[in-house]
Parts: sequence; C-alpha cells; structure tokens
Amino acid sequence: MFRKILIANRGEIALRIHRACQEMGIRTVAVHSTADATAMHVRLADESVCIGPPSPRESYLNVANILAAATITGAEAIHPGYGFLSENARFAEMVEAHGLTFIGPTAEHIRMMGDKIAAKDAMRRLGVPLVPGSPGALASIDEAREIADQILYPVLIKAAAGGGGRGMKVARSADELEEAWQVARTEAKAAFGDDAVYMEKYLDRPRHIEMQVLADNHGNVVHLGERDCSLQRRHQKLVEEAGSPVLTAADREALGTTVTAALKQLGYRNAGTLEFLWQDGQFAFIEMNTRLQVEHPVTEMVCNIDLVKEQIRIAAGEKLGYEQKDIRFQGHAIECRITAEDPLTFAPSPGRVTTFHAPGGLGVRMDSALYAGYNVPPYYDSLVAKLIVYGANRQEAIARARRALDETVVDGINTTLTLHQKIMDDPEFQSGDYTIHWLEKFVAREVEGT
Ligand code: ADP
Repeated sequence: MFRKILIANRGEIALRIHRACQEMGIRTVAVHSTADATAMHVRLADESVCIGPPSPRESYLNVANILAAATITGAEAIHPGYGFLSENARFAEMVEAHGLTFIGPTAEHIRMMGDKIAAKDAMRRLGVPLVPGSPGALASIDEAREIADQILYPVLIKAAAGGGGRGMKVARSADELEEAWQVARTEAKAAFGDDAVYMEKYLDRPRHIEMQVLADNHGNVVHLGERDCSLQRRHQKLVEEAGSPVLTAADREALGTTVTAALKQLGYRNAGTLEFLWQDGQFAFIEMNTRLQVEHPVTEMVCNIDLVKEQIRIAAGEKLGYEQKDIRFQGHAIECRITAEDPLTFAPSPGRVTTFHAPGGLGVRMDSALYAGYNVPPYYDSLVAKLIVYGANRQEAIARARRALDETVVDGINTTLTLHQKIMDDPEFQSGDYTIHWLEKFVAREVEGT
C-alpha cells in the first residue's frame, strides 16, 4: 500500500480524499494556489505545496508544478479527484512516466471515454444500448439534415469533447438546425478547442440514471447500483439519489449486468460511471465518466462501500475481494449540491463566510470545506457543500434532508440552501415523478412568484 498520496485538487473533494487516506494510514500532500493558502484541505493535509497563482491554468492544471510537488514530497501516487486533471489522459501518462501511480484508469481508457463519439462507438460494440443518433462526427450541415430526417426532430447537437453541459444545442425543427449546428460548434471550439459535434435524438421526457462500477486490475468488475440525477439545471446536476425512485431491483440488476459485462470486456479498471437516459422503460447510454463523481456519496451510503478507499486499493494492485452477490443495497440516500450562488438567479456569490454551522444527527453527512471566516474565492467551481442524507426509505431520506437543511447555517454569502429546501418541500419532487426538464420549470415558477 502507498505511504503517501498527493491530492491534485481542492475544496470538498480534496478533503474527502484526505479523509479516506487518513483512515488507511496513508499520509497526504495537499497542493494549493495562492488563493487557497488557508483552505481547509491545506489545513488538514500532512504536508502542502503551493503550486501557483489563483488561475486554475497556472495552479490546479499546472502539470509540471504538481509533478514537482509529488517528487519533492516523496508522494508515490496522485489522486486527481473530479474536474481539473481527472480526465486528462496526458496527465495520467506523465504521472506514470515519473514513476508515480495515477489513481484512475489507463490513459487509453480516459482518452476513449473523453471523446464521446469514440465512447459511444465502444459501447455500441460492447452491446450497450445507445441514444439513436449520428454514427460519428457530423461532417457537414447536409449530413446533419440527413440524419435529423432519419431520427426525426427534435434533435440535439453535442460536442464530441463535451462536458459540463457545454456545446449542446437543441433543434426542434429543420428551421432550427443550421443555427443549432453553428452555435454548438462555436461553443465547442471555445470551450474545448475542438469543434467536432455529433447528433442525438433529443429525448423529451427522460430521467438521467447512471450506474456506478468498480473494476480492479485482475478482471473483477462489480456494479454498485444506480443514481438518479434527473434534477438538473442547464444540464448540470443539483440533487442526486440512490436508488432511483422509478427502478425496480430487477431493472437495476439487468442494467448492472449489461454494464459490468461491457467493462469486463473492455478491461477497465478504477471506479467509473456509465450515464444513461431512461424513457419509456428503455435505457440509452450517453457517456462514461472515468473518475470519481461529485455525487458518489449517495452510492456509498446505500452500499456501505467507501469508493475512494476502493480506488486507492485498486490502484495499489489489490483485488476487489468481493463479488456482486456480496453487495447489498439498503435504504435510500439523497445529495443536495449547495453552491455559492443566488438561489434564484444563480449569480455567483464568492466572499467571506461569517457563520457556518453544519447539520448533524443520524443519517446526515456534510462534505464541505467551509468554515467560519473562510473566504470563498471567485476563481473556482461554486460548489461549497454537499449535504448527503440517508434514510430507511425515500420518504425518511426526504424528511431528514428537510430537517438537516433547516439546521444548516451559511452566513456572509448567498447559497442555494433555500432552493434545496423548496425542492424537498415540493409534492411533485416527493412523488418521485419527474424528468430532467422538471427543475428548470420549477426554478422559472419560483422566479415568477417573487
Ligand atoms: P456533459 O458531459 O456536458 O454533462 P452529457 O452527455 O452527460 O453532457 O449530458 C448532460 C445532460 O444533458 C444529461 O444528463 C441530460 O439531462 C441532457 N441530455 C444529454 N443528451 C440528451 C438527449 N439526447 N436528449 C435529452 N437530453 C439530453
């Protein structure tokens, strides 16, 4: 097992990884920008190294400085967390070239799944059902027209290098296609430096359901069930649950079997998530994430498995040590992503936190790097806390979320706490009957009502 791990990230996820390392007796090295010198992940780590100025490009994405930090501190492995360098195949290669272990999959698999066209191609070959669409990148607007006529409107133009919901445009009819194609390509070029786009049928009322898997270096693959991430704004997740209110145990088992067989054939290792849209009882693959996800805690709560410890054990070459039949799903978990934003306009709200009080009690977990006096910097993702609640069933989890949100205090900055309270109080949310488009309408109603 590793003696020392460098955590190439910040905020709550850096803390999350530190906590797993501590419990495993592994020392940690934090890296930080000058803006994060007093951040909680730096305070708690055994050692820390400043890797550059505030701009992510010069710090958390600064490969040379991160590798130098690992070398001078004698770290043996690097955990990338999510975001930043976590899905950068070149980074994984460079980590290995420096004689360190990258806690993640092979560079080849990161590269394959990072290109959504290649990912869909691979999944098609592996027998995973896909959203109907173009077989590859769209070469021209004429090809786009042809395919749209086959799969029928509405269609979605998506960036091959996409992420974070960017470079995605809907065309509801032939009239809208050219503009959607132009805008998606321009956005993709600006965001990812790559204007390759492809087309999918735009599903009008799907749920977003994803499968968590774990795979070791010895050919063992298990799934840890699904997460329902249908509550989204601008294609970004706000609330996640395990399990999905609409799946039966048999549905879970069927999808889990398809997914684990595919990844076994692929020779995948590490934690991974296959994302699907679910509509009319059908699953359709949209993308795979080859890293730990923001919403991983809900899976941990219902499976009683620590995903970060598993990633570390797998990277150290250990066997999973259990089989699918050993994994039990129990109870229900919900995560609320609390961001430093206005709860109605979503305008960013960085600044000094004057009071912070985290909720407690049975079944409540707060993953956050906040503390009173902390200055939320304006340079990074606005996520400041994840409230995760666990209950014997969905109803209890919701009641617990309402109670825990009530207890939470974050003063000095605006946060989305009140939005989460309204969602948890809403009868439609409570019924479990909603699609990926529900939250946008809910927020619009809230804005109108003020
Ligand atoms: P990104 O990598 O940018 O997050 P994804 O492919 O994961 O992009 O899609 C993000 C979200 O966009 C999905 O969870 C879903 O809400 C929506 N979406 C993606 N593809 C489709 C589609 N074909 N039809 C309808 N909604 C879609």
